[in-house]
Amino acid sequence: MAATDALLAELDKIQAWHLDFYQDLHRHPELSFQEHRTAGLVADRLTGLGYDVHTGIGGTGLVGVLRNGDGPTVLARADMDALPVREATGLPYASTVTASDANGNQTPVMHACGHDMHVTCLLAAAQLLAEHPTDWSGTFIALLQPAEELGTGARAMVDDGLAVQIPKPDVALGQHVMGLPHDTVASRPGAALSAADSIRVTLHGRGTHGSMPHYGIDPVLLGSAVVMRLNAIVSRELAPGHFGVVTVGSFQSGSKSNVIPETTTLLLNLRSYDDHTRKQLRDAVGRIVEAECEASGSPAPPEFEYTDPFPVTENTQAVYDKVSAAFTDHFGDKAILMDPSTGSEDFSDIPNGLGVPYLYWIWGGFDPETYHRAEADGTLGKVIPGNHASTFAPVMEPTFRTGASAMTVALMSYLST
Ligand code: ZN
Ligand code: ZN
Repeated sequence: MAATDALLAELDKIQAWHLDFYQDLHRHPELSFQEHRTAGLVADRLTGLGYDVHTGIGGTGLVGVLRNGDGPTVLARADMDALPVREATGLPYASTVTASDANGNQTPVMHACGHDMHVTCLLAAAQLLAEHPTDWSGTFIALLQPAEELGTGARAMVDDGLAVQIPKPDVALGQHVMGLPHDTVASRPGAALSAADSIRVTLHGRGTHGSMPHYGIDPVLLGSAVVMRLNAIVSRELAPGHFGVVTVGSFQSGSKSNVIPETTTLLLNLRSYDDHTRKQLRDAVGRIVEAECEASGSPAPPEFEYTDPFPVTENTQAVYDKVSAAFTDHFGDKAILMDPSTGSEDFSDIPNGLGVPYLYWIWGGFDPETYHRAEADGTLGKVIPGNHASTFAPVMEPTFRTGASAMTVALMSYLST
């Protein structure tokens, strides 16, 4: 505790630089796997602080390793990418950036998920550790990953040999800024965030004139039957009270009233908290789609393309016990139990890829009074913009202070001497 307090007492001295850095990142957001500028700035900073930096892991990913004697090895991760969203916050440091997306289309870009805050808070913790080596002992690994928003950046780093570039950690930590009061930190043991699958399903019919449906096989009717049946998976196949989501987010077929088209394309999104349910949902989708195609006399088998897979985030009990006790010591009753979130993250691909336990927590970025009033009124969704909204704007301070403190407190719960 005393050693942690000694580190955090330095936050005032380093705050100004970090808030400038945050505003600079916010003004210069970069799309997934395009985080070249961000990664370069972070690499320079970590190198300047004495870290052993390895760049270009899984594209734009990087790690900084700081060895400081015997003790545990702790990895902390931040994600760096922004979103194809046109910023509407009106902030003085709002983004006006556009970039070319993976399909070559020009799009506005915004840090609408707060990853700029994650990077800044991780760098602050990295600086506190680097400048106060007598207060801790062990090895700290700062990991900055690309492309969290695609669900593939963490996996890209693991697949690119992350394990051989760093000492094996004993534990991995990650955090996210969310729609909570800016003095509040929340975590939970076990399943904290859902696993997600996106599936593109192509259904084949046989095109014909709209006046002669008997000459064709109508993929619009086929697709409609599929959508109706898919929506019964959760209500009829999962136990009541068991969490799962099946959403058909897109249905595309045909372009003219008197033409029966050739195909229908559906975009599906599935969410679950465990591998068994995840498999159950995927299997049910496959079974229903194939059976409906059969029922329609579809001329070709349906096609399934799995995209944007996110693993379940399932916090390790022992890590939760240790870090949540440290959070309670530091934040008092502002360290709370997190409700399981239906959102998803690819953070756990890193500890899972390295075979180590982990904890992921969230903290708030919004005025507590406004938050609690909206909560009481039942207007939270309206008053506090969710992550990915074009108006998502965490208050700079004390959001930075809370996030930097949470990361430092969690790290020091392992590294403190
Ligand atoms: Zn996001
Ligand atoms: Zn995010």
